[in-house]
Amino acid sequence: MSHHEVVILGSGPAGLTAAIYAARADLKPLVIEGMQPGGQLTITTEVENYPGFPKGILGPDMMMAFREQAARFGTEFLAGDVTVVDLKATPKKITLGKNELTADTIIISTGASARLLGLPSEKKLMGHGVSACATCDGFFFKGLEVAVVGGGDTALEEATFLTKFASKVTVIHRRDTLRASKAMQQRAFDNKKIQWIWDTAVEDFIDDGSGKLSAVKLKNLKTNELSELKCDGCFVAIGHVPNTSLFKGQLKLDEKGYIVPNPYRTTTDIPGVFACGDVQDSYYRQAVSAAGTGCMAALDAERYLAEHKNH
Ligand code: NDP
Repeated sequence: MSHHEVVILGSGPAGLTAAIYAARADLKPLVIEGMQPGGQLTITTEVENYPGFPKGILGPDMMMAFREQAARFGTEFLAGDVTVVDLKATPKKITLGKNELTADTIIISTGASARLLGLPSEKKLMGHGVSACATCDGFFFKGLEVAVVGGGDTALEEATFLTKFASKVTVIHRRDTLRASKAMQQRAFDNKKIQWIWDTAVEDFIDDGSGKLSAVKLKNLKTNELSELKCDGCFVAIGHVPNTSLFKGQLKLDEKGYIVPNPYRTTTDIPGVFACGDVQDSYYRQAVSAAGTGCMAALDAERYLAEHKNH
């Protein structure tokens, strides 16, 4: 069993920025990389809004650079996913399968994942016409017809993005008003390639026997009328869920399951446990804001260790 002053759970922009700061403070952090090393940016393409990259950078390349920078100052990395964590023990305990570690402080940066509808056909056709990431898969639908499910900023951003490739994009929303910001709505309404189906839920993803999506089965929630929309792709864009199942019953979570840090800090209701990035942010969800809170978490952990261990 190894002991560490700082263990960071997750390796997206928040976790790796925390690692850079903690490593430069000579805390020899250990990053447990999780199921998707590099986080959500590794499934995007071009990142054009991260300051310092005037020509843009590919998401995976950016995360490789973050990792290299963290490694340069002595960050250790461990591949895998934590199975159990005891945040209240002293020292804190972390289990990865048969591997057990202890830590004085834990920085949680486990991020969030796309929310899905939960239909069996969705799981079956994921990657075969059904997708939860337009930036990852939009390219495959050149000249084809696609649908987008959802009425928030993500759905409209994805719909707008998909018009670069698809011949037609149909947004299917369960209500008759959008949740997305007015600017995003206007941009989507102005786009001639986008069509709208209101008050409607997706009941099923249909495969015509080719192993690929061929249509979606729809139900109008006001009239209960059933219909089918032919499409080659369907992008589910109904929000995200924070990756916090490990911490349920231990840490303060909000009604959507996001960690609730103390105001203006990354400290949580458990001393020595810090949270940063999308796991505590359902609102901004940007790489640069995640990186900012990662920096804050490392500084908070450093201060905590100095106070508790005369480090
Ligand atoms: P939101 O929670 O804002 O929207 C989710 C949408 O999906 C809602 O329209 C919701 O419907 C719908 N939905 C949820 N569950 C289901 C379901 N089971 N079946 C059908 N529809 C469902 O999530 P987003 O990911 O869109 O946005 C999250 C945050 O990120 C927001 O604060 C947003 O502003 C921000 N964001 C900003 C962007 C930007 O500014 N460029 C881009 C992307 C996100 P209903 O409306 O009925 O609840």
